[in-house]
Amino acid sequence: MRNVNYLVVHCSAGPQNQKVPAIEQYWKKSLGWSKKGYHVIVEADGTAHELVPIDQISNGVAGFNSQIINIAYIGGVDKKGKPVDNRTPEQKATILRYLKKWKKMFPKAIIQGHRDFSPDKNKNGIIEYFEWIKYCPCFDAKKEYANII
Ligand SMILES: [Zn+2]
Repeated sequence: MRNVNYLVVHCSAGPQNQKVPAIEQYWKKSLGWSKKGYHVIVEADGTAHELVPIDQISNGVAGFNSQIINIAYIGGVDKKGKPVDNRTPEQKATILRYLKKWKKMFPKAIIQGHRDFSPDKNKNGIIEYFEWIKYCPCFDAKKEYANII
């Protein structure tokens, strides 16, 4: 097993009814990725699709992927394409279940959102909203999952 230092939460940044094959096509055809973007992707009804075994690498955060497990919920934008936390209760429950499982396997891993990898430009130790390179996953994952041990 590889060294997992981060458990990272994403949104797909698409409509909530997006289908997984369409997302996979987008990675392959539009972005030209050889790897899939996330290990696990969670539909609005809470169904989890395990796309990549966790001992392999997915393509969630440039520069960090070798040390990450990536999980995403489908959604994260409103009808106008603006970032929004529109996770359903079912998605929240499924993501929590995975994070708890992985945290048991990798107790030292830090749980955070994609946006928390943005550079801390003013070096105050906090990644503030004006420093985010992306909004993903559109909620404060660090805070929400701080109590998972
Ligand atoms: Zn992301």
